[in-house]
This record gives sequence, C-alpha cells and structure tokens, in this order.
Amino acid sequence: MIELRQITKHYPMGGVTVRALDGVDLDIRSGEFLAITGASGSGKSTMMHLLGCLDRPTSGSYRLKGQLISNYSHKQLARLRNREIGFVFQTFNLIQRTSALDNVSVPLIYARADDIRHPAMAALERVGLGARAHHRPSELSGGERQRVAIARAIVTNPSIVLADEPTGNLDTRTGEQIMQIFHELHRSGVTIILVTHEMDIAAQAQRIIKMRDGRILEDTQVDDELRSEILERNLRVHAAATADEVHTGTTG
Ligand code: ADP
Ligand code: MG
Repeated sequence: MIELRQITKHYPMGGVTVRALDGVDLDIRSGEFLAITGASGSGKSTMMHLLGCLDRPTSGSYRLKGQLISNYSHKQLARLRNREIGFVFQTFNLIQRTSALDNVSVPLIYARADDIRHPAMAALERVGLGARAHHRPSELSGGERQRVAIARAIVTNPSIVLADEPTGNLDTRTGEQIMQIFHELHRSGVTIILVTHEMDIAAQAQRIIKMRDGRILEDTQVDDELRSEILERNLRVHAAATADEVHTGTTG
C-alpha cells in the first residue's frame, strides 16, 4: 500500500542542512498496525507528515496504492489526503469555538459531501461520543477531545489513519481507551500508523519501527503471542476501568 524509497527531507537552516530524513526505505502493507518510535528529533513527525501527504520529500519516491505521488503538487496531495488519510495529533487540533459535531464535519465540507450531518454524527457515535455532539472542546475532557479528533479523522472513511503521539497528553488509563479505538479501527481494516515513545503503546502494534537521525534503525515484527497477551491484559484493565466509571459516574 505504501512504498518509500530513499526518502530524504532536508531543511536548509542558515549555513547548515538539517537532515530530518536521511534515506528511508519502507514498505507498509494494507491493514497493518505499525508503531514508529525513536528519540526526540529522530524524524518521526517529519516521516508522518510525508506519509500523510502534508508535505513533500526533498528526494526519493513515495508510492501510495501503486501511484507515484512524490511529485504531486500540493493541491493534488490535498485531494488525495482528503480521500485516503486521517490524521490524529497529540494536541487534538480542534477548532475551539465550535461544537464537536462541527469539528467532525470539516473534512466532509472540504470533500463537498452531499450529506454532512449523518456521517459526522455516525463518526462521533463510533467513538462513543454521540451524546457530546453539541459540546465545544472546552466542555470536554482530554480523552473526549481526542475522541472527537479521531472521529474527524475517520469521518471520510480513510484507508490509512496516522496518529502522532495520540496518547502523549493523556493519562495512562485515558490513553488506553484511545488505543481501544485504534484497535477497533484496525479490526475494521484500516491501516494504522502510530508514533509513540511509550513501549506499552508500541507493543500493541504488529510491527515497530525505530528511528534514529532520520533513518530506520530497527524494523521489528511483534510476536503474535506477546501481542495478544498485552491486548488481552489491556482489555481486562479497560473493562475494569469502564465498570468502575459506570459505578462512580466519571469518564476519561
Ligand atoms: P521527532 O518527531 O522525532 O521529534 P522531527 O521529525 O520533528 O522529529 O524532527 C527531525 C529533525 O528535523 C529535528 O532535528 C528537527 O529540529 C528538524 N526539523 C523538523 N521540522 C523542521 C523545519 N520545519 N525546519 C527545520 N528543521 C526542522
Ligand atoms: Mg515529533
């Protein structure tokens, strides 16, 4: 589905060149759940921006579903992004002065969809926030804001969801609720690519890419048994936490 060959992204900064990406080869199959890890400054966000068609590489080739897109114009990339890709950010990036439903509607407006309200509402329901549709971000918890952001990312039914540290601003338990949504999306066939520096989160993926200095240092397949063990344990913790919430009336 995704094929990167010798991708570089260089930023000229005064007299020096920052090599944010420095020759990346990567193949991602349709339906994979991939985690990208690495120290701060190793090129993870740059990689996500390129994968998500938010930016273009300095050199190298990027094929998405067989199409060579590394030479697309920004306009062509925007159209492709709207159709194929959903993006989730660490800081949610919601419009503050409007409702959850309006936030989720934005990609449909860009796509000039005929029907906006129904799919936007369905996306909010899919992340368990149907009852919060008319709340503004300031009236929602961090976990709820991130769920709105996920609803916005999936409202156009993208084949790929990219998430850059989606649990980075959340406590462990709320982060786990967010991970459950990514697992549910993955089970429904969506390709998930997730940046995280938390090993607990990365180990929930099928494959872990470790980056250093703009290159891929390691590419590891997560042992299936270990992964199901982690997922089962987290599901139990998640179920217990949810039961607890119903009991005490709190949500993450
Ligand atoms: P990470 O997400 O792993 O922390 P980034 O991809 O954000 O890393 O950054 C990789 C390197 O590229 C860093 O050295 C960073 O300072 C540099 N960089 C990222 N974006 C820009 C930019 N727009 N202009 C100049 N340098 C940048
Ligand atoms: Mg980053």
